[in-house]
Amino acid sequence: MGIAETSESLKARAETAPETLTDGFHLLIDALKVNDITTIYNVPGIPITDLGRYAQAQGMRVISFRHEQHAGYAASVAGFLTKKPGVCMTVSAPGFLNGLTAMANATTNCWPMILISGSSEREIVDLAQGDYEEMDQLAIARPFCKAAYRLNHVEDIGIAIARAIRSAVSGRPGGVYLDIPGAVLGQIMDAQEGSKSLVKVIDPAPRQSPASDAVARAIEVMKGAERPLIVLGKGAAYDQSDDLVRELVEKTGYPFLPMSMAKGLLPDVHPQCASAARSMVLRDSDVVIMVGARINWLLSHGKGKQWGEPGGKRFVQIDIDAEEMDSNVEIAAPLVGDVGSCAKALLDAMEGEAIAPPTDWLDAVHTKAEANMAKMANRLRNNNNPMDYHAALGVLKDAITERPDTILVNEGANTLDLARSIINVHKPRHRVDVGTWGVMGIGMGAAIAAAIETGKQVLAVEGDSAFGFCGMEVETICRYKLPVCVVVFNNNGIYRGDGENWGGGDDPSTTVFVPDARYDRMMEAFGGEGAWVTTPDELRQAVAAALDSGKPTLINAAIDPAAGKESGNIGNLNPQSVVAQ
Ligand code: ADP
Ligand code: MG
Repeated sequence: MGIAETSESLKARAETAPETLTDGFHLLIDALKVNDITTIYNVPGIPITDLGRYAQAQGMRVISFRHEQHAGYAASVAGFLTKKPGVCMTVSAPGFLNGLTAMANATTNCWPMILISGSSEREIVDLAQGDYEEMDQLAIARPFCKAAYRLNHVEDIGIAIARAIRSAVSGRPGGVYLDIPGAVLGQIMDAQEGSKSLVKVIDPAPRQSPASDAVARAIEVMKGAERPLIVLGKGAAYDQSDDLVRELVEKTGYPFLPMSMAKGLLPDVHPQCASAARSMVLRDSDVVIMVGARINWLLSHGKGKQWGEPGGKRFVQIDIDAEEMDSNVEIAAPLVGDVGSCAKALLDAMEGEAIAPPTDWLDAVHTKAEANMAKMANRLRNNNNPMDYHAALGVLKDAITERPDTILVNEGANTLDLARSIINVHKPRHRVDVGTWGVMGIGMGAAIAAAIETGKQVLAVEGDSAFGFCGMEVETICRYKLPVCVVVFNNNGIYRGDGENWGGGDDPSTTVFVPDARYDRMMEAFGGEGAWVTTPDELRQAVAAALDSGKPTLINAAIDPAAGKESGNIGNLNPQSVVAQ
């Protein structure tokens, strides 16, 4: 009996010999498992409730969230950490839309993720006859992902999952949408035929070496460098060619600047790390090697005062995506390929070439970095009452230095900007943050994924506003007993906690929250540990207890409401009104 078997005969077999049959639920799970995808981030509901149950029954890890956006963020972060697509599963229409934000974020960050959403009866949706949660999800998903597919027949599940995986991880990674009309899950087929229909994807993300003339061009640019710089991005962290990247940095001897999620690729305390001289190296360098980092808004598009004299720089850029080249500035030597292959090609071609930078440049960078670090060290030791960002972050910096295996998750405005520069990261992929969009609310999803995928302790450093977008997921953290310590920097508001109503009325300002809110009690409500701390010493003790115990913990750290800056470091992006309020 083959795929062509009639539905009547299959139905008859369902009565007499169900063990010879399989269905959409089981084939979907088998198709994921055959590709070594063993975890699903999910929110149950019609039509996928049983899919989660069966997946659990088949030995998959199914992490159920309280809201699809956080399940989606978790899946995307799983993709970043593992180089395999993270899978998020949602219900139709509203659940799908909730997950869509996360898929769009995955695509923006170049992280592999598959959003699988159940959808309503096709015939009714297509005739707009008003079905339960009716929506043409496939069409809506398209602009937000690399590829979008719909499955209409149980026989296609194997090939559809293969296609989704390959699309998510090959070339520049990104989000992929897979639409599953609920009816497909219930479709039956012969079990043997079903297992033959599964596809194990061979070499889903083939390595790609740069052309030799492109490598030679890059070496020529590097040989002419007097003030070279390497910028490492999260594409380099994603690639997992950690040893080759380290070798490239150390053999060239160039100062390097890690973008936020490339921190730890080489430790922030590495002697060539130029983070503490960031402004200077961006301004004064003459040759910049971009390694898996886009020259986007996070680097002022490669233009303006931050980059020194116009036309004063030549760029080498390593990227898997050829279209990234010249997106903002001219790239003198594009190297298209994966970071590992490009780094290897450069290292091989460097043999016998004079690449080492002049010592006066290295000395200048070093002197500047040392001076800035010394200035910072004093601020980190302050004992101001109420506690300010620097004092609190100094404590967290020490905590991570003592436990470098801890994965740091970080979001907020001031909490993000300051933690990024203050807390050193010591290992690759040990920092997850707001990414390319600067999105708020990734914290709990990211923390959960980091704990699930690595089994390591997680420290999530959250602004009180950022935490508000995802706080309910502390229940998920408690339910799965995850080693996550959340520190909420509670300054009573967005940017600052001392805003006033510009109209003078009784309503609070648009940017303030209930003062001294007890976020710690949210964690306690679900059986976790809570602490309310107001001094650096109290914070130090509470964090040590949490990180050493591995218990779900929320530390509510009271921060001076007047300490923050409007919009953190990116206040310049706010439009200004010329009209009086
Ligand atoms: P950051 O925000 O850290 O600067 P970006 O997200 O802007 O990093 O840039 C990451 C870049 O890395 C993207 O342009 C993406 O195409 C590229 N990339 C992703 N994976 C790889 C890989 N394996 N090899 C090379 N480049 C990659
Ligand atoms: Mg705040």
